[in-house]
Amino acid sequence: MIKIERKMTEKAQKAVESLQKAKAKGGSYNMEAVNAALREMFHGKCYICENKKITSYQIEHLSAHRGNDDLKYDWNNLFLSCAHCNNTKLGRYEPIIDCTKVNVEELIAFRKKGYFGTDEELVFDMLDSDEKTVNTIKLLREVYYGSTPQKKMEAKILRKILRQELSEFKEYVREYREAEDEEKEDLRCCIKQQLSDSAPFAAFKRWLIRDHSDAYPELLLLLRQH
Ligand SMILES: [Zn+2]
Repeated sequence: MIKIERKMTEKAQKAVESLQKAKAKGGSYNMEAVNAALREMFHGKCYICENKKITSYQIEHLSAHRGNDDLKYDWNNLFLSCAHCNNTKLGRYEPIIDCTKVNVEELIAFRKKGYFGTDEELVFDMLDSDEKTVNTIKLLREVYYGSTPQKKMEAKILRKILRQELSEFKEYVREYREAEDEEKEDLRCCIKQQLSDSAPFAAFKRWLIRDHSDAYPELLLLLRQH
């Protein structure tokens, strides 16, 4: 989970207008304009797990609406998530961090520890003790590990995608260290893209760079540009 700017783009404006109309006539909030604006804003990835290889998108209410129309049709309460995360969260972890308002990475450190088999673990280190941070970490743990048999299977697939993404990213960083001139510049651009808001699992990649800032001070500078 990373901070996402809720910019009032043309698509977002259309979504807000559609939501106002739907609210007036009691229609569905699940409209094309809303989905298009959410896809744009969240760079096509789930705001909770940061996976981009999603086959099932859902509109997630940060605060569960439970029939409350103000929450149900409020653009600021709508987020893009995958079905796995939406069905994990439900209304069970309220309140969580609002990633469109707060820099999540200042509150939680996202780390993958260990390399092989059983010693491998995803760790969400708490950097402040706010209730929202505590709840968000509980949610993240359940998202990446699951609690029911089905969710455990889904979580295993999610962790596999994360592992592959991080391995690829680490390889770029290793190559960068040894590269020279033009090749180094190409790799720097590639790493910058991998650290951008639109990259999958950006929180884990950025924390990897922070944790190895002594070895890669130049890459830490790339991070500060976000
Ligand atoms: Zn997700």
